[in-house]
Amino acid sequence: MPFPFRAPRLGRPRALALAALSLHAASVATPTLHAQQPAVDRLRRDIAYLVDSRLAGRRTGTPGNDSAAAYIAATYAGLGLRPLSLDSASQCAAARAPIRCFLQPFTARHVAVVADGSPEIMLTQNVAALVRGRDAALRGQVIVVGAHFDHLGRSPVGALDPEAKNAMRPGADDNASGTAAVMELARAFAARPTRRSVIFANFSGEELGQLGSEWFVQHAPVALDSVVAMINFDMVGRLRNDTLIVYGVATAKELRALLDSANVQPPLTIDARGNGWGDSDQRPFYAMGIPVLHFFTGFHEDYHRATDVAEKLAIPGEARVVSVAERTIRLIGDRPARITPVRLSGQSERARTP
Ligand SMILES: [Zn+2]
Repeated sequence: MPFPFRAPRLGRPRALALAALSLHAASVATPTLHAQQPAVDRLRRDIAYLVDSRLAGRRTGTPGNDSAAAYIAATYAGLGLRPLSLDSASQCAAARAPIRCFLQPFTARHVAVVADGSPEIMLTQNVAALVRGRDAALRGQVIVVGAHFDHLGRSPVGALDPEAKNAMRPGADDNASGTAAVMELARAFAARPTRRSVIFANFSGEELGQLGSEWFVQHAPVALDSVVAMINFDMVGRLRNDTLIVYGVATAKELRALLDSANVQPPLTIDARGNGWGDSDQRPFYAMGIPVLHFFTGFHEDYHRATDVAEKLAIPGEARVVSVAERTIRLIGDRPARITPVRLSGQSERARTP
């Protein structure tokens, strides 16, 4: 499949320089935040690529969505991660696999897209890569760390601002923020793996009804009973009042305690809510009995609108969310025993989530 992958050369906007200055001022009082500056810079760079007008809002089945997939795959290839390709070509088993080996092509099919003239059936792809666990006895167990990278593109279908017609919906918070979080976590775990293995999965087709994560679960590259937990990031770019919403904490006995131990330096307020049935990519995993967490910084007036732009994100706040998530994943990945799944029916409690 040809990908129009070209990394845009972006200047450093004035607003970013101002944001960096204000972060520096804050870092005098809080040295930990200063230590996060490299992560803030990487998150900002990845988000800037994903929201660029050349990607046109990353709608499933469009060249901009394909470019986003290629960008993520190129990052994983550059980190030396292992592809989780269904392609048996020997190239994909090589130490430095080409980026196509990190792609999982699938056919997206949804009736809603017909309303805006899009084809009913579209070829698209997830991206997936593995960091092998360092403990030979535990590396057969995996944690899936995921986020969707698709958004609405230029279609008013699914948008809450139909008056903006065919304007680009850049989806900076939904979900360039989560995509960048997963890429940043891939860097951290490539540098320092846990005892268990970690799969980094970036899903397409979420805005059409979690099509990519559902496809992943139905065509999983590892046995589903080896998946210890799924950690989802959907809208993590607008931390407010230092409060982080986490869905799914009740889906395993140990998750609340693990999350609390991970929440340090300086701690956020954790608003633990709901079960595993929220409307995002954790849902197909929870349906298979896998414990899930969904990190979320809350809804806002720009949700599914053309105004969900990068300038409105709180990237230093996102870096703090990523830190808490990284420590949580390390605790799950390094503890001697698997966490204990809890089955919750709770369909009636189904939360409105992105
Ligand atoms: Zn979303």
